[in-house]
Amino acid sequence: MDVSADNEMSTRSHVVGQLIVVFSLILLLALLLGLFSLYRLAEALDARQVEQSRFYAESAMAQLQKNDKTFLLTHANWQAAYDHLGGQVDTQWAYDEDNVGATLYTSDGYDGVYVLDDDGTRYAILDGKLSQQGLERHTASAGKILQEARQAAQHEQASSGYLVFRGQPAVYVAALIRPQTQPAQPPGPTAVMVFIRVLSPEVLLPLGQSAGLSGLAVVDSADQRHGRGALPLEGSGHALTWDLPQPGTELIQTVIAPLAIAVLLIALSMALFARYAIRASTRIDRSHRALMTSRAALQSSEERFKAVAEAASDWIWETDVLLRLTYLSDRFTELTGHPVEAWRQRSITELLSCDTNNLRTCLHSLAAAGSSGTLRCQYQDHLGQQRICRIASRAIVAEGVCTGFRGTCSDITDEVAAHAQIQHLSLHDALTGLPNRNKLFRFLEQSAPGAEQPQVALLMLDLDNFKPINDSLGHPAGDAVLLEVAIRLGQVTRDSDLVARLGGDEFIVVLTRPGDHADMDRFCTRVIEAIKRPIQVEGHVVQVGVSLGVVLSADYSGTPSDLIRHADVALYSAKQAGKNTWRFFSAQMNAALMEKRVLESELREGIPRGELVLHFQPRFKVDGVSIASAEALVRWKHPRLGLLRPDRFIPLAEESDLIVLLGNWVLHEACIKARGWPQAVLVSVNMSPAQFSRSDVVRDVGDALRATGLPAHRLELEITENVMLNDVEGALHTMLALKELGVRLNMDDFGTGYSSLGYLRTYPFDSIKIDKRFVQHLGKSGSDRSVVQAIINLGNAMGMTVTAEGVETAEQLALLSDDQCHEVQGFLLSKPLENEALVGMMKDQVALAR
Ligand code: C2E
Ligand code: CA
Ligand code: CA
Repeated sequence: MDVSADNEMSTRSHVVGQLIVVFSLILLLALLLGLFSLYRLAEALDARQVEQSRFYAESAMAQLQKNDKTFLLTHANWQAAYDHLGGQVDTQWAYDEDNVGATLYTSDGYDGVYVLDDDGTRYAILDGKLSQQGLERHTASAGKILQEARQAAQHEQASSGYLVFRGQPAVYVAALIRPQTQPAQPPGPTAVMVFIRVLSPEVLLPLGQSAGLSGLAVVDSADQRHGRGALPLEGSGHALTWDLPQPGTELIQTVIAPLAIAVLLIALSMALFARYAIRASTRIDRSHRALMTSRAALQSSEERFKAVAEAASDWIWETDVLLRLTYLSDRFTELTGHPVEAWRQRSITELLSCDTNNLRTCLHSLAAAGSSGTLRCQYQDHLGQQRICRIASRAIVAEGVCTGFRGTCSDITDEVAAHAQIQHLSLHDALTGLPNRNKLFRFLEQSAPGAEQPQVALLMLDLDNFKPINDSLGHPAGDAVLLEVAIRLGQVTRDSDLVARLGGDEFIVVLTRPGDHADMDRFCTRVIEAIKRPIQVEGHVVQVGVSLGVVLSADYSGTPSDLIRHADVALYSAKQAGKNTWRFFSAQMNAALMEKRVLESELREGIPRGELVLHFQPRFKVDGVSIASAEALVRWKHPRLGLLRPDRFIPLAEESDLIVLLGNWVLHEACIKARGWPQAVLVSVNMSPAQFSRSDVVRDVGDALRATGLPAHRLELEITENVMLNDVEGALHTMLALKELGVRLNMDDFGTGYSSLGYLRTYPFDSIKIDKRFVQHLGKSGSDRSVVQAIINLGNAMGMTVTAEGVETAEQLALLSDDQCHEVQGFLLSKPLENEALVGMMKDQVALAR
């Protein structure tokens, strides 16, 4: 994942967190503001209520005084009162007749009723009873009251105010007593009538009620309490108080609980929301991260796929379920020449055809079986040329339903061609194209099946005077002559006959309907005539002759090898008899056969006598310097015939158990010698197929390793395909057991057998050795080079080391190196050496490396 994406992500949960904090702060602020305004509103409401109630209280008190004044004036501004109280007090009139008497207390509620003048109290009623105690006894304000009343009288008014009466706050009204009709100012000082009403609860509560004030009461001025309205009662040292309604506070009280609940709910839902938001954003972060990771993984896997698709030698295809191509890798165009666009949405069956199977059926059966498979198909490239390919395919299954197919397609045209070529070369002579020894054997085996053997004649031919042509005119001329001979032999034989070349100037002709000796005589004459005709070679005219050895299966039956051996003997006899002639095989001629018998018994005695010796031919890495292995090649120091090559005695040893004796001797000797080498390279030992059929090679090899102490991994066995020909199952079993021992297996003479490729896949070979025949034509024949390349590719594909043997020229080595062959062996690098010489070579290398 890239850094920017990471940052982007880490800020996301951050941002969500911050947003939540900011949002909460705003909400809190709004809430505080709301609360504050509410508080201010409540405060204002309360303040207004204070004002209002104070006004009501004032008004109530004013009204009380006003009413009392009005009531007082009805008594004071009254002629009768003036007459009976203004001067001498007429108690009879006033109290007894109740003109200004007890009723003022009982029905009007005045606690004190007084008439004052400058000499003091002249008439007093206290609690409705006539009293001897003057006002002065109950209050200090008597003088002040008198003064004020006289002043007010100047405006024909009564005065009023507060005082402490008998220790209680009270309201008083006072007015001058005068006749109603009198002018404003009566003469001289006159008496004043005073009504006093104690502000008792009985007075105040109804007063308060009428003014809409509850709990109206009077308290000491110092004793004011919070939450109650207050109005000082001037001059009484007391104050009026009442229950102060607090609408603001009430508002807050009623609002506060639901508000608190609402705030709590909001806070709760905020918290829940925040939790959810943070969780969600964390989840989003997580899934985003996962998405980024999987996107990165997808991208890298796409890149990887693309890289593979582009690098692969195969092209990759995909189809929908109707087999319409939906994807073709770019390699498609490179390999087929067709543009990808031209094939998209077309059916794959239009592109590829398969002659053994129906492609559509095959793909659908893959889908049904849920497996993958390969199929060989053909297609035409953009030039219209037929190409062969191998497709590997598999159904695309989504939720149990096949939605299409995908696979790879490898062009195997060259491989198939090389395979065919290898097959052909393994059965044919590269120069003349005639069947070779392998095909000859096959032919002979096929034409002689079972008891009712059809008769054949086998003729072995050897050219006379060929070597001088080769020597004087060079190899190409020699080859041209051989080619011409091959053609002429073809001309004198029928299609059912076989003409083969064994190598050099040796040919074999097999006639399927030979007739009798006379017929054979005629045929031989025809052959000699045909070959004898002059041949044009590079501007020269040359002439060769031919000798023939003939054997008729009617006369001497036997195995194909027997027939060939008999013909060889007859040929020898023909050559002895002078050239350009032929001889039929006869038992007497079998002197050569006798010779072999002798040789065989000499070998049987010679092996224990120590007449065998091993030469070693090193095998090199393709750099031509480092030794990878040394191959043990047996020689026989024959007391009579000198040093014999294996070709002279191995075949005859193979005809009997002698090969087991010989093979075991070679195994032991090779292991012993290898242990003494200064370099711990492999030692390669050739194993004859006969050893496999006549002995327990696993035991033999194990014995040799145990007896000599050579580590198994240093021993390599060279095995030809013939081993597998005899007993396919047994050979596989034996080879697996050999692998178990830890030895390496090398397939020798690769390409000369019948179906090398098949064997290669089945058997546990570690390496393959390309037969010298292919190597020796390298540089001369393009086809051989492509075979060599195909074998190297095959070896690489199967993880096997590939060796080329019989490397004789620097050119061959260069080509093999170009084609990335792994290892090389041949006269160019080293001939087979005696052990001391090999050890010397190894020592030199070791010294050089130091
Ligand atoms: P081979 O296994 O293919 O061994 C290679 C033969 O090719 C050897 O011949 C070797 O000398 C020869 N050679 C090597 N380099 C070149 C080259 O550059 N050009 C040419 N023209 N020839 C080259 P040799 O030693 O005569 O052996 C012939 C065959 O005898 C061997 O063929 C192998 O099949 C068999 N053989 C040799 N030793 C033993 C053995 O100990 N046991 C068995 N069973 N067979 C053996
Ligand atoms: Ca070999
Ligand atoms: Ca070989």
